[in-house]
Amino acid sequence: MRIIVRGDAFSPDFIPPALPHREEQLKQLSAYMRSFLDSPGSFYPRAVLVGRQGSGKTVTLRSFGGSVKPPVKFAYVSCFINRTFTAIVSSLAQQLGIVVPKRGLSRDELVNVFLEQMRDKDLFAIVALDDVFNLAPDAISIFIRMGLETDKLGTHRFGLILVSHTPDFIDALDPSTRGILGKPIVRFPPYTRDQIFDILRQRAEIALAPGSYDEDILDMIADITGAEEGAENKGDARVALDILYRAANNAESDGVSRITPEHVRRASKEVLVGISSDILKGLPLHAKLLLLAIVRALRGGKPYVTFGEVEEMYKVVCEEFGQKPRTHSQLWAYLGELRNKGIVETRLNKKGEGLRGRTTLISIGTEPLDALEKAITSMAIEELR
Ligand code: ADP
Ligand code: MG
Repeated sequence: MRIIVRGDAFSPDFIPPALPHREEQLKQLSAYMRSFLDSPGSFYPRAVLVGRQGSGKTVTLRSFGGSVKPPVKFAYVSCFINRTFTAIVSSLAQQLGIVVPKRGLSRDELVNVFLEQMRDKDLFAIVALDDVFNLAPDAISIFIRMGLETDKLGTHRFGLILVSHTPDFIDALDPSTRGILGKPIVRFPPYTRDQIFDILRQRAEIALAPGSYDEDILDMIADITGAEEGAENKGDARVALDILYRAANNAESDGVSRITPEHVRRASKEVLVGISSDILKGLPLHAKLLLLAIVRALRGGKPYVTFGEVEEMYKVVCEEFGQKPRTHSQLWAYLGELRNKGIVETRLNKKGEGLRGRTTLISIGTEPLDALEKAITSMAIEELR
């Protein structure tokens, strides 16, 4: 029985024809960029999209990208996939149709070649760096400053859109770069239950056979995944759509023509139970070691540990595994990755929590620590063998 009639509508690249409950964000983003699009060269537009995983940042950004018209080009890079400065510049260059040497140049030289080519080819581009928290602050700074290089560019040739799950990366920039960026923030709140319902309904209409599901099924998924006060991992449209997709698959493989609540239950168990071992396996070695350090630090029984405590523990773990500890900023990037993948949660401390100043608190809400420690330890040992 075919229930899924358009599988591509569940792929991460799919851009739906409309974005329910993101009209406002799309409008704000377009407003930041509009004057540049209307008269390229007029100024240097910037925007920062901020929201948790699954809050629709990427899909909104790509949908905006689709509306960018010549002479302005739109270039999109995921900093989760392209993690080095050179890889990002290469990807941008490729999308903009310019050639830069793959190796042999310093960062400054690479940027200069890139800017010269922009000028010589008379290009205008809106550059979007998605999940930019994966980059070190000094690399982010270079991209922010590039748009101001009007001496080398001849005119304002860039617009910049940065995407992150929190605005923390802005605080980590040096003050003058922070000043250039400003605070043009577009916020993406977690989706409420009713909003997720609308998103599910839209996708079901596109992707599933008519009559293969009841609205009850969509309600059920929205109930499980909609944002609630205090729940840091809810309101994620990706999780909701993933449950719908798996439920539809389960029904198909049972050979029936309708999705039942039981299919949803099975699917939600698959999606929501803990952290998949594939995700853990895919982490770089030192992200695993950092995670191990977090688990060990949390074993003290506190619900949260500070980044400082984790760093101390990480050094011990490195010694145990005969590894040279990575730098502070690298660890920050790994922490961002752990958070982005939903493995750990982080927040800034509040006043009156008995800690001095602002510090990042880290917790793990989903997985029993025992199981997690065992899994990471054996993966790390395996990897070092
Ligand atoms: P983020 O980048 O914030 O982590 P995404 O943009 O990747 O989130 O969205 C996660 C998934 O949910 C994607 O499959 C996306 O197509 C879908 N989605 C998110 N918001 C909406 C929306 N408002 N309407 C339709 N689909 C959405
Ligand atoms: Mg995204």
